[in-house]
Amino acid sequence: MSAEDIVRIVDLRSDTVTLPPPAMREAALRAPLGDDVYGEDPTVRTLEEQAAEITGKEAALLVTSGTMGNLVAVLTHCGRGDEVILGDQSHTFLYEVGGISALGGVHPHPVHNEPDGTMPLREIEAAIRPENVHFPRTRLICLENTHNRCWGAPLKPEYTCAVAKLARARGLAVHLDGARIFNAAIALGVEVRELTCDVDSVTFCLSKGLAAPVGSVICGEREFVAEARRIRKMVGGGMRQAGIIAAYGIVALQTMVERLAGDHENAKLLARGIANIDGLSTEPERVQTNIVYFELERGDPEEFYRRVRAGGILFHRMGERKFRLVTHYGITRPDIDRALAVLADAAKGLV
Ligand SMILES: *Cc1c(COP(=O)(O)O)cnc(C)c1O
Repeated sequence: MSAEDIVRIVDLRSDTVTLPPPAMREAALRAPLGDDVYGEDPTVRTLEEQAAEITGKEAALLVTSGTMGNLVAVLTHCGRGDEVILGDQSHTFLYEVGGISALGGVHPHPVHNEPDGTMPLREIEAAIRPENVHFPRTRLICLENTHNRCWGAPLKPEYTCAVAKLARARGLAVHLDGARIFNAAIALGVEVRELTCDVDSVTFCLSKGLAAPVGSVICGEREFVAEARRIRKMVGGGMRQAGIIAAYGIVALQTMVERLAGDHENAKLLARGIANIDGLSTEPERVQTNIVYFELERGDPEEFYRRVRAGGILFHRMGERKFRLVTHYGITRPDIDRALAVLADAAKGLV
């Protein structure tokens, strides 16, 4: 057996790797079930009511993933040929297989994301199309909170409010990709609804930091969610005894939110540690939630990546010399210390 086989794997690739705790599994076994396409699964209904309450919306809809949540939301807001303004670093633009275009015929209009995850209001405004026979019609603005590619930056309520105000003045809707909205709320010390009250729709993930095995929820006004329910069915997302999944989500909302603060602490520790490692660089002051980016300043990045993985630390390479680490429920303080030791070793003597 090699050393690799016996060390504990520290998986810092993503908070999606979290495994559900026993209480979730037990809740899933006990959950009352029904056919949710007929609206008859009581556990799904409970989860949807709770999600609506938390986000301050009238209604909610369980979907399989964050990607489906954003897709269904965008297709509910927009028709074919309509345009959506979204960040050039946003998850929907970069990592959702172009689904809004491929399946909805929706045209993306990317606006550059600042390092803090915002898009400048001026640039959003400039991206809105005037009425002209040549142009697609702008229908929607999408925001992302926390912002994955922008170091997990949380968007402040004031920014979201300013974008919503601009949107309303121009007759547009706002959708929030809140995959990690609970991380944002915890980091900013605000209620989730303060981050969602101004937008028309929001999607959040149960399967990231909240550690449920599957599921995301779209929240919005009643009419919007009724239409989203039709679109969900259209893309094959109507689930039958989905209470099995919803039960995990209910426990996730009850028990996994407050503990996100610990993930943020671990991410900050990681970033401060990396800043002290010769040959690596990061900006610890940018880390507010559970995502850390860093760069290898010198040496062969292939070799560095190989060494770290051989040391039992899993992480993502995001560019030539750029790497990402994500803290979560499965990561302990000793794991952080180990990761730092392995990173320091790997960076040493690289050519
Ligand atoms: C993970 C993520 C999604 C998509 O969620 P999946 O459940 O993996 O489809 C959407 N937006 C952001 C910002 C994410 O980080």
